[in-house]
Amino acid sequence: MSESGALPRRLDYRRAAFDQAAYGGEIALSALPRIRAVCVADSCGDDKVSVAIGFKEDGQRRVIVEGQASVTLALACQRCLEATPVAVDTAIRGMAVANDEAAADVPRDWEPMLADGQLLDLYSLVDDELLLALPITVVCDRADCEHAFSRDKEQGEAVHDSAAASQDKTNPFAALAALKASDGDKTN
Ligand SMILES: [Zn+2]
Repeated sequence: MSESGALPRRLDYRRAAFDQAAYGGEIALSALPRIRAVCVADSCGDDKVSVAIGFKEDGQRRVIVEGQASVTLALACQRCLEATPVAVDTAIRGMAVANDEAAADVPRDWEPMLADGQLLDLYSLVDDELLLALPITVVCDRADCEHAFSRDKEQGEAVHDSAAASQDKTNPFAALAALKASDGDKTN
C-alpha cells in the first residue's frame, strides 16, 4: 500500500485501487446518521470513529476494500436502559461495485459495497459496517441492573411456562400501588 492519506468522504474507488491507496483518520459520529441514531448519549462513548481503509485490485481487476473501524458507542442496556459504553471494533472487507448487477457477480464470501457510480462514500460505508458490527444484546454490569434482571428472569420463566400461571402472579401495578400507599403513610 502507498502512504496513508487523510480520509476523504468520497473517492473514486477504481483509481484508489489502481494506486493501492490507503487512508486513515477519524469520522465524527455526528456525520454517521445511522449509527448516531442507535446511540443514547454521548456521555460514555467516543464522539469520533477511528478508521483505516485501503484499496487494491484482485486478479480480475475487482476492487477490494479492506480496513478497520473502531469506536466506543453509548448504547442502551437492554435490562435497565441506562447508557452503556460498548466498544465496537470491526474489520471492513468487501468489494466495491458500481451497481446491483456488478454486486451479483461478487463472490459469495465477499460483501458487495455499492458505490454511487465511480464514487464510493466512505462515511456511508463505515456507518453500515458499524451497524452490522453492533452486538445483538447490550447488557451493562451495574449491580442494580443485575438484581433487577434476576428478579425479572424468575418471573419471566414462570410466565413462559404457562400463560395461565401468569394470572396467579401478583399484579405488578397492584404492588406499585401498595408501595405508593405506604409512601403516602410516611409523608403524612
Ligand atoms: Zn443495565
